[in-house]
Amino acid sequence: MKHFLTSLGLAVLLTACGPSKNTSNDLAVSNPIATTINLTTVSNDKVPVSIDPGRFTEETVTYYLPKVVQGTYSVSAFGRFIEDFKALDYNGKPLQFTHPEENTWVITNAKQLDKIVYDVNDTFDQEEIGGIGKDMPFSPAGTNIEEKNYVLNLHGFIGYFDNLKNNQYTLDVTAPATFKHTSALQATASKSSADGSVTNSYFAPRYFDITDNPMMYGDLSIEEFMVGDIKVVLSVYSPNYVHTAADLKPSMYKMMEGQKAYLGDVNSTPRYDIFLYLADATPEAPKGFGALEHHTSTVVVLQEAMPIDILEKSMIDIVAHEFFHIVTPLSVHSEDVHYFDYNNPTFSKHLWMYEGVTEYFAQHFQIHEGLMTNDEFYAQIMDKIKTATYFDDSMSFTLMSENILNAPYADNYINVYSKGALIGMCIDILMREESNGQRSMLSLMKELSGRYGMNKPFNDDELIAEISAMTYPSVANFLKMHVEGTTPIDYNVFFNKVGLTLGDKKVETSFIQDGNGFIFGGDQEKMTLFFSESVANNSFWTEEGILPNDVIKEVGGTLLTLQNAQTLIGNMYQWQPEDDYEIKIERDGEAMIFKGKLKQAYTVSKSLMEDENATTPQKELRKAWLKG
Ligand SMILES: [Zn+2]
Repeated sequence: MKHFLTSLGLAVLLTACGPSKNTSNDLAVSNPIATTINLTTVSNDKVPVSIDPGRFTEETVTYYLPKVVQGTYSVSAFGRFIEDFKALDYNGKPLQFTHPEENTWVITNAKQLDKIVYDVNDTFDQEEIGGIGKDMPFSPAGTNIEEKNYVLNLHGFIGYFDNLKNNQYTLDVTAPATFKHTSALQATASKSSADGSVTNSYFAPRYFDITDNPMMYGDLSIEEFMVGDIKVVLSVYSPNYVHTAADLKPSMYKMMEGQKAYLGDVNSTPRYDIFLYLADATPEAPKGFGALEHHTSTVVVLQEAMPIDILEKSMIDIVAHEFFHIVTPLSVHSEDVHYFDYNNPTFSKHLWMYEGVTEYFAQHFQIHEGLMTNDEFYAQIMDKIKTATYFDDSMSFTLMSENILNAPYADNYINVYSKGALIGMCIDILMREESNGQRSMLSLMKELSGRYGMNKPFNDDELIAEISAMTYPSVANFLKMHVEGTTPIDYNVFFNKVGLTLGDKKVETSFIQDGNGFIFGGDQEKMTLFFSESVANNSFWTEEGILPNDVIKEVGGTLLTLQNAQTLIGNMYQWQPEDDYEIKIERDGEAMIFKGKLKQAYTVSKSLMEDENATTPQKELRKAWLKG
């Protein structure tokens, strides 16, 4: 056997520089929890894990996997993916334990506990629908075990002991030497073995760092680039080699340069990891598309079938959002977030800020840095206003946020990305109006991150009063009426301040939408999908001769069923002008085929536009808002 150390890492340095320790102290409270994940001995789609704490002095200890992970606002219950759990004594004999609840194991006779071993099953291939708040964890928070790829969201593999959450962890991941890997967690060493495996060692200061630092192993493409003083590492898994990290690097670089310029002197991170998993159309592939933020990384799951320009656009929207989370909640957050309880969490009232303001920045920086036109930005705002109409407009945002796991609040969660972002927009306009363009939503967030920061949480109940005191009566009143209160926002008031107006306009649309939403309806009884009245407001289908109530039978020669409807319609969304298309419909009991070349579709839509009669002060405030 041959092995060598390739680097001396933080764990070694810490031991070397730290106060000298009594080496005979083997107590659990004073030693790192040594954990291993072995990707070379996967059997039946399960990865073996071992957890080796120091010696306990208690009679009973409790081990948990997280029920909820940060940033998801839904129940994941990672304990249910653990199989063949064993607690072993110092002689390797099994100890008694109870399993009172799916995420909890109580080990009796804990003084004898040497280590815990178990197998972990993955979540990606168990997803049926995908999405947030469904039965399975949202894919970007989930886990993947397949021959060529491992998504190691470590909160799905490694748990914590009730009294050792602040203990250090070491983690050894053993994998075939042919695997590429990237990790947001601090690497300390790497050892090769004669059997063709490599063991990489990592160090985590506490359990939080285990949950906050995902890894990806397997057949990856990886690119690195510098954005100012941040090293960005982009890792892409594309099962059929459709897209690579190199393909996405130019657009990611341009976007993140813009973000860095927008943020200015905000404290950031020396390294930022982007993990992109591209799902193909196999049944085992993940179905919850989107991303989950961490302090110094993000995990993104999207569809491999997307053409590169649509993939780039999605990545810009998603990664911009995730990267801006370094402002909030990462450096401005409440005690609920800071002292997060993975099994009995309480939730902050301020999702309007964590998710809403973050999403607003992700759109606003693009106009501010010249990455989108004024009209594109206005269209994004209208899109958010339209999406927000699907949710309860008179629900208090703070009340929803605090109760986000429960009905009726949970179903309104997605509105944090729509109405939440619009709340950010309104406060931004008010801040600029009141300060003659000197202050903004961003400058307010910077002030808050100066007061608080990554290691200093705010008191959840005091934030609104504090912002009110830091800003203006108009901002205080807005927060009281529209964030804490239940009064819907009249956006026209804000558009008027910046000389914008609403009017009908011919705009480009997709092959599945008009200006207001989808152009389909469903018949629950007959289990069919048909073109709705809205199809009359889609130029392409109207010119082709499609009528409302035409029932869709086949798309591109594939029979449309309840099972594949989402995929087929999703594919139609990605159709491009000049492509050939064919659909079969049924009208009054008669089958008809429409086919030919696709042409750009247009619709007439309520659009936000610049008011030709805007006054100079209105135009000045608009300029301060968009470019100030
Ligand atoms: Zn977010």
